[in-house]
Parts: sequence; structure tokens; C-alpha cells
Amino acid sequence: GVAHEIRNPLAAISGSIELLAPSVAPDPDSRELLAILTREAERLDRLIADLLDFARPRQPTVAPLEVATTLREILRVVENDRRLNPNANRFQLHFDEELWVDADPGQLRQVVLNLLLNAAEATPGGEPIELHALSDGDSALIEVHDRGPGIPPEVRARLFEPFFTTKKTGTGLGLATVHRIMEEHRGTVEVDQPAGGGTIFRLRLPRRDPAPPAV
Ligand code: ADP
Ligand code: MG
Repeated sequence: GVAHEIRNPLAAISGSIELLAPSVAPDPDSRELLAILTREAERLDRLIADLLDFARPRQPTVAPLEVATTLREILRVVENDRRLNPNANRFQLHFDEELWVDADPGQLRQVVLNLLLNAAEATPGGEPIELHALSDGDSALIEVHDRGPGIPPEVRARLFEPFFTTKKTGTGLGLATVHRIMEEHRGTVEVDQPAGGGTIFRLRLPRRDPAPPAV
């Protein structure tokens, strides 16, 4: 509730800045102040959006999902997100079997999007980001593998802490949200440093028997 109460006046402020912009004096100082207003309003809006995602007390509404199909759909939705710096070969999806889980599709999308955003922010050069769907005993695994610089131990120890960020404009709520949603799905999230470099975030969910074929 509080977050929404902050959002409304914030929208009014952002709108007013936009309307005011053309009539602000063209000197560099005024322009810079205007840029600061815009940037900080955007930052507040992002923080509130992330806070809402993190704090939303919502039980997942689960449905049987086929993992690779779901990942393909998620990619189709998020592929146009400018923050992901999309290019022709950016997202590579690998899977070799049908894999079913019980998950809330909207929340799973949120989880994957947060991991893709981090992967994209770790690779500003637009290097490929691989998604793997695979089974491991009773678990279904979804891996997001980037070719970024990796994660130093002191950062790794605090990854899932709310508000922990090493980014200038980060909110530190992405992985905390991932962690919470995975817990609510009786799953886990772990991080791995592959020998070839980069970072792998691995989601683990209980596997379910395939859904009966539709009639
Ligand atoms: P934010 O992205 O707002 O900083 P997150 O909770 O998503 O917050 O991530 C927390 C921190 O974890 C990041 O600031 C970064 O230092 C580190 N991190 C997360 N994902 C990666 C990654 N793929 N490669 C390198 N560092 C990462
Ligand atoms: Mg993030």
C-alpha cells in the first residue's frame, strides 16, 4: 500500500519534469539539474517496482509447466526488453528432454528475468547468454550461464541479501526476490563458477510426472 502511495506522486513529479523541460533555461547547469531530476525519479520508480516484487505476499498459483516450452515463451516476452541488450545470438536455449514442474508461470518468469538482467549487466558487450533445461534425479534444473567476469567470494557470500548491490544504480532486490520465489516453490537457487569462466545461476525445482496428454 505504502509503495503505491509513493508511486502516484512520483508519477506526477516525473510528468511535471517532462512538461517543464522545454522551458528550462538552456545553460549547462540547468540542463544538468534537469537530467539529475529525471534520473533520480527513474531510480526511485525502479526501486519501488523492485520492492513491490520482493515484498508481494503472494502464494504461488502453480500449474504443470514443461520447462523448455516455458523458457521459450519467457524469452519471447523478455527478448525485446532493452535492458537485456538483445541481439541476434544473445539467448541460446539448450534442452534435450521433456521436463515438467509445478510452478507459477508469472513468478517463474520474474525469476528468469531477474537472472537474465544480471547476466546482461555482467556482459555489456552483448556476449551470449545460455539457458539450459536438464534433469538431475528428482529435480528439474534451469541454468542461466553468462560469460561475464564471475563473482568474487566476498560478493558471493551476500548475493541473496535484500538491498545488497555492487552496482551504482542497482536495488539489490533481484536475487533476494529470486530466492524468496524459489523457496515458495520448494526449490532452490545456487551459483556456480564454471571452469570456462563466467557465472551459472542454477534453479532447482521438484520434477513432476508429465501432464496427461490433452484429449
Ligand atoms: P542488483 O542487480 O540490483 O545489484 P541483485 O540482487 O540482482 O541486485 O544482484 C546482487 C549482486 O550480485 C549484484 O550487484 C552483483 O554484484 C552480483 N551479481 C548477480 N548476478 C551476477 C552475475 N551474473 N555476474 C556477476 N555478478 C552478479
Ligand atoms: Mg539484479
